[in-house]
Amino acid sequence: MIARLLIANRGEIAVRVARTAQRMGIHVIAVYSDTDAASMHVAVADEAVRIGPDAAAESYLDIGAVIDAARSSKADAIHPGYGFLSENADFADACAAAGIRLVGPSAAAMRAMGDKAASKDVMSKADVPLVPGYHGADQDPAMLATQAAEIGFPVLIKASAGGGGRGMRIVESAGAFDEALAAAQREARGAFGNDRVLLEKYLTTPRHIEVQIFGDDHGNVVHLFERDCSLQRRYQKVVEEAPAPGMTDTRRAEIGAAAVAAARAIDYSGAGTVEFIVDATTDGANGSFYFMEMNTRLQVEHPVTEFVTGLDLVEWQLRVADGESLPLAQSDIKLDGHAIEARLYAEDPERDFLPAPGHVVAFEVPEMGASVRIDTGVRTGDDIAVSYDPMIAKVIAHGADRESAIAALDRLLAELVCAGPVTNQAFLRRAITHREFVGGDVDTGFIDRHRDILIPPRDGVPDGALAAVVARLLTQRGRQAVAQASARGDANSPWAASDGWRANLRNMETLEFRDGETALSVSVVHGADQVSLTLPDGQTVDVETAEGGWSAYASGNMFFAVADGTQIRLERIVAVEEASDRAGAAGGLNAPMPGKVVRVMVSPGDQVARGQTLMVLEAMKMEHAISASGDGQVAAVFFAEGDQVAEGAELLQLEPVED
Ligand code: ADP
Repeated sequence: MIARLLIANRGEIAVRVARTAQRMGIHVIAVYSDTDAASMHVAVADEAVRIGPDAAAESYLDIGAVIDAARSSKADAIHPGYGFLSENADFADACAAAGIRLVGPSAAAMRAMGDKAASKDVMSKADVPLVPGYHGADQDPAMLATQAAEIGFPVLIKASAGGGGRGMRIVESAGAFDEALAAAQREARGAFGNDRVLLEKYLTTPRHIEVQIFGDDHGNVVHLFERDCSLQRRYQKVVEEAPAPGMTDTRRAEIGAAAVAAARAIDYSGAGTVEFIVDATTDGANGSFYFMEMNTRLQVEHPVTEFVTGLDLVEWQLRVADGESLPLAQSDIKLDGHAIEARLYAEDPERDFLPAPGHVVAFEVPEMGASVRIDTGVRTGDDIAVSYDPMIAKVIAHGADRESAIAALDRLLAELVCAGPVTNQAFLRRAITHREFVGGDVDTGFIDRHRDILIPPRDGVPDGALAAVVARLLTQRGRQAVAQASARGDANSPWAASDGWRANLRNMETLEFRDGETALSVSVVHGADQVSLTLPDGQTVDVETAEGGWSAYASGNMFFAVADGTQIRLERIVAVEEASDRAGAAGGLNAPMPGKVVRVMVSPGDQVARGQTLMVLEAMKMEHAISASGDGQVAAVFFAEGDQVAEGAELLQLEPVED
């Protein structure tokens, strides 16, 4: 029996694997890089080992460091999750050499499938259908050009060692071939250190349909049905579902059998996925299918399969790694209803889905029922690190049929709050509720084709969002005033007696915000028992009624209004005096936002008076004064002029004067 399992991964998959292992009574050991020391996957583990600095190459991808961690923590098995070392045959060898079981297939199976061209050789021998193309060793450019012409344009050039859509080029005509080949080779060399390519007929209306398979060490192989992953951006999946919309039972049995044959061809053991590309031009999911590649690990999108089969794939993986036979025979595996998953990413749809890492100011998961699931490694206050994949969570729903699964997922995406980084949340809602998608009419070109509808131009800041942000700001200020008064021991002051933002004594003020490049100004009138706003469009409204369904969150001068899965991010423009007030009121001498230190006015040992400016930061092209929260002596100054500081960084230390 596996008694101590080291999970060589991070984020949601490390958390997800830990959940099953712990349920099975297995002691879970996490590994972490420096950035991840306080992350969720470390918190849920029974024990954790540091494996190196932030760079993946020096931590999660460092075979020696992972094996050392397994040895020092006396792990008897390693689960690699997906990505990182999960398909690395050298890592599998290193585990074997160290006498540690790897929860995954043999090194030989990984090697056989690790290279797209080599895997096609194996599959063609096993009679698994392949996309018409060329995957030979001869890489002479003139010969490749001749092959391309024979296949017929459009042709797709793929890096043989490829993954993540890198090293791929579509070539529309013979004249464009040479240049595209050179570009694909360059990209492949840079990304994989290997510039071998293969050529495939480019299908113009393809669906990505993959089959989950499972093998054991006793010669059993089954499939757990298919997943349709046709909703992609930049050749990467964002929405996945099971079963494939429109697939007949006959076709399901055929594609399942082809996947099982593929797995048998390499004596496969453990969880794997055989990816097919389906020509959906005339018959949708039932068009001709061709082997694309095999992933020798657990997939990101495995939860949809778990929902429609009622099985725990990680449990199966651990049992198979333990030498057990597969728990069920093919005929015992049943398909129940429909499941759909959306990947919530810190990325900007408006900027071609570029990653947008950042601080998660709020992550609030709605109440969960049995038919919804959120897999995440992120909590409120965590950072989406620049060094790793920007996925925040997988949001998954199950229903009796496709329509109810989509409706449940849409509800979940509307209720989930993720404030802080720019995300694809609103985009996901638009994608899964698009008429064509709901009609089951999907192919990998769907997102590009409907870009205008899925990524509409923004039309200003909704009044409710602005009202919620103002309310949030005033509440915050009220709380600070109360804290300030009580810190002064001034219990009878109107500040201390007051509740929330009604404490504000000013009758009228103007607040300035920035929405990207656009400046917004709101006049606030504090009445006896209500606060009214004059919005940029000239309307005057009561703050509480205007908020509508919006709620707002804040981090420093950044405000995030959230409603129904949509987020509006506003930056408050503050005058220097107020910035110093706020720094003082909060009692902290911490950077209110990331920026640069432009002036340091004090040195350790200096006596300072409350309110005195100690340091000036420049952030977002504006200066922010950091001033003393009380009378005292400067104990330490942590930064010098010119230094960059992170949001929340402690800048100076003050020792209060003794009374
Ligand atoms: P990677 O390993 O880099 O992710 P894949 O071979 O898995 O690359 O292909 C990724 C995606 O590219 C597929 O899901 C599909 O959308 C598209 N694709 C791959 N091969 C073809 C093809 N022959 N014709 C059209 N699209 C393709």
